[in-house]
Amino acid sequence: MPSGSSTPGSDSKRHRVLPVPKTVAGLRTFEPDSSIVSDIIPSPNYGERNKGRQPDMIVLHYTGMPDVEGALARLCTAGTEVSAHYVVLEDGRIVQCVAESKRAWHAGVSSWAGEDDINSCSIGIEIINRGHDWGYPEFPLRQIAAVIALCRGIMLRRKVPAHRVLGHSDVAPARKKDPGEKFPWHSLANSGVGHWVTPAPIVRGETLMLGTISDAVLSMQQALARYGYGVPLNGKYDAATMEVVTAFQRHFRPAKLDGVADHSTLSTLQALLASLPPEGTTVASK
Ligand SMILES: [Zn+2]
Repeated sequence: MPSGSSTPGSDSKRHRVLPVPKTVAGLRTFEPDSSIVSDIIPSPNYGERNKGRQPDMIVLHYTGMPDVEGALARLCTAGTEVSAHYVVLEDGRIVQCVAESKRAWHAGVSSWAGEDDINSCSIGIEIINRGHDWGYPEFPLRQIAAVIALCRGIMLRRKVPAHRVLGHSDVAPARKKDPGEKFPWHSLANSGVGHWVTPAPIVRGETLMLGTISDAVLSMQQALARYGYGVPLNGKYDAATMEVVTAFQRHFRPAKLDGVADHSTLSTLQALLASLPPEGTTVASK
């Protein structure tokens, strides 16, 4: 239920008033799926998962809006056509807006590992952060700790393998940058959330870049596709390929986002592929 009735003015984490959108009044509430959810703010923006698809993926987002109030209003107001299962506030509080059993509307046009109805196969988590258009602040530690705890619970309950915890930019590279290069994927991986290898160092050498047409480009595209990215398989380093390489860098080699496949980018990709669990295994061991 909305928690707007707690004491105003208190600076304690539990008592700070949540900006509950007025539009949620009268919406049916539900039981939280996770015990660490502090508030339910029901969103009307959801449907049924296609053909009863059970979620086995987590997609992380940032809200990309100037304030929490606006972000919650957008996610919980009919007609905006967007929602997420969870919202993680900067102070670490976790709000649930859509039951995990339902299909929230967070991914939009997207694809991963050959599937393109990502909303049906995933749980969407929005992380409050103003994003690239509004100064893109660092993610506070307590917010990241909350994201980790939430993801770990979902991974256990839903048998989500670590390599299927992804960013919005991974599944929609042409359209999205979130959660962005400041998102500490390495910290999540230290807690068993997400798949990560230490990025290979950036060194001088041969690169593949926009305009290159070669077998090496095709091999790289095949490797990106094997990892899960929706990428053309045409041997041409076209604009779409460059967007995918940039998305890959944003997640796995954030020190340099230039869309150029240098040795560091390609080595990091190969190391990730080599360290994927064998087919059929699930869930991080940590
Ligand atoms: Zn997003």
